[in-house]
Amino acid sequence: MNFDFREARVNRMRCRKSTAYAGQTCCPVALLIGEVPVCRSELGLNDVCCDKRVMTVSIRPHHLLCMLTYLGKGYTPAFVENYSTIVQRLNEGEPIELVEGPDTLCQPMLDEPGCHCRNESVRNRDRTAAADIALVLGRPLEKGNSVVLDRQTLSFLRDAFANGSIRKACQGCEWQSMCSAIARNEFRGCHLTPP
Ligand code: SF4
Repeated sequence: MNFDFREARVNRMRCRKSTAYAGQTCCPVALLIGEVPVCRSELGLNDVCCDKRVMTVSIRPHHLLCMLTYLGKGYTPAFVENYSTIVQRLNEGEPIELVEGPDTLCQPMLDEPGCHCRNESVRNRDRTAAADIALVLGRPLEKGNSVVLDRQTLSFLRDAFANGSIRKACQGCEWQSMCSAIARNEFRGCHLTPP
């Protein structure tokens, strides 16, 4: 009897890790309520699970706002290169893990003179952003939570950004008028464009 590859593909089991997000019932919404995602890949021909957690990007809360208006410009070439790489990973569907303090985007700036990434004022910006965004998404945003910037979530956030309801954290930021102009321009040219 010939082996039917089409049938095999239909019947191929998903990795057992795919049935749960950190012990919860499998559900895409789990990602939106903060569970840690794990491998969802199909089992290979030998039914071996890769047993890997999905990679996550560490992001501090106020950068959830800044990324909405990222046009590929920034403080230094190294900062821009790193930022663009991170945004590309998010565009490919990688989840975010929320962190306190400096995050992946901050890394190239941490040794720069006058680096503000560890300042209490920036941590306050994070707390304000997390509170506002949590209201829009209808879920808590705390350290260790997972956020997936899919198209719908991004649309919610950009609408809220444009109408000002999540902009309290932007008060005092030197880029405020530029980001407002980008929002008025309906985020044209912005790099964050998830699947
Ligand atoms: S105004 Fe500042 S804090 Fe607000 S999104 Fe722009 S860069 Fe980020």
